[in-house]
Amino acid sequence: PDPTLRPEPMEGEVEDRALRPQALTDFVGQAEARANLRVFIDSAKMRGKAMDHTLFFGPPGLGKTTLAQIMARELAVNFRMTSGPVLARAGDLAAILTNLDARDVLFIDEIHRMNPAVEEVLYPAMEDFELDLVIGEGPAARTVRIELQPFTLVGATTRLGLLTTPLRDRFGIPTRLQFYEIPELDLIVQRGARMMGIEADPDGTREIARRARGTPRIAGRLLRRVIDFALVEGDGRLTRQIADSALTRLGVDDLGLDGADRRYLSLMAEHYGGGPVGVETLSAALSESRDAIEEVIEPYLLQQGLIARTPRGRQLAARAWTHLGLAAPVAMRQ
Ligand code: ADP
Repeated sequence: PDPTLRPEPMEGEVEDRALRPQALTDFVGQAEARANLRVFIDSAKMRGKAMDHTLFFGPPGLGKTTLAQIMARELAVNFRMTSGPVLARAGDLAAILTNLDARDVLFIDEIHRMNPAVEEVLYPAMEDFELDLVIGEGPAARTVRIELQPFTLVGATTRLGLLTTPLRDRFGIPTRLQFYEIPELDLIVQRGARMMGIEADPDGTREIARRARGTPRIAGRLLRRVIDFALVEGDGRLTRQIADSALTRLGVDDLGLDGADRRYLSLMAEHYGGGPVGVETLSAALSESRDAIEEVIEPYLLQQGLIARTPRGRQLAARAWTHLGLAAPVAMRQ
């Protein structure tokens, strides 16, 4: 197999794969994106053409990879997968592109982390299905043009702002994914429990859904851990009480925040009077990378109204002080 295609499954990914919805109709949530994709997929099939290049953006775990796989399945074409950081040299990408069959879906995860030299190769490939390859070096170097099969590039990124404008402009279908609503996550958890052969109370799945940080991947992970507790410490049934005690033991609080979220909020409250604080300062104080803070921690805290972004940095909102059980500074309490 091609070493540039992501090989090893991560912990839990095997079960993940079994839970992954296979068709667009099984995909819960993201109603707007789903309705639009239905039209674009059907239209491409009717025209017998490759579907237009599609960019999925939004926080990790919301279903970008899953939707890309569903697109390939619905279009009845091959699915090839790689990621921005793995494509070190232009030749790596050229090798993948020249091996695509007509109308295939090529999925590039973390597309904002692609090396600029590799990105250059992508422009004519996306626009004209052509590859310009430089052969040889120095005065003997020459460019050869290779025709590619028409294909669909599906890019995924957690950081739309880090994409270069020329790359961004070449996607005909940019699609933002949103955090999921609790009833949607509940359906995902119910389906997961069913597939794992576990009997679950409605209150039990709802408790997991409520505390899943708006994210299907987290819902799946919490479900697997709650089932562990239900099997070992309960009678195998997923109840609200088992879910609550398991999640609390795992450090997931009532709002679904985990240890890293609470460390972030407490640091701002206790050391910076609630802010504003710059992200670099937070990154240094928490020993977390700036990327992890901006891609993983902050989007959900912002969506929950726990923090706000101001021109001078991040600031705790009133709801965060309440959640931490602390008194907000006087200025906030009018
Ligand atoms: P991303 O690529 O955005 O990081 P993934 O597509 O890998 O997210 O999804 C993460 C996990 O969540 C996968 O196990 C997937 O099966 C599950 N998942 C994502 N979206 C949904 C959904 N709408 N319904 C059910 N499961 C989902």
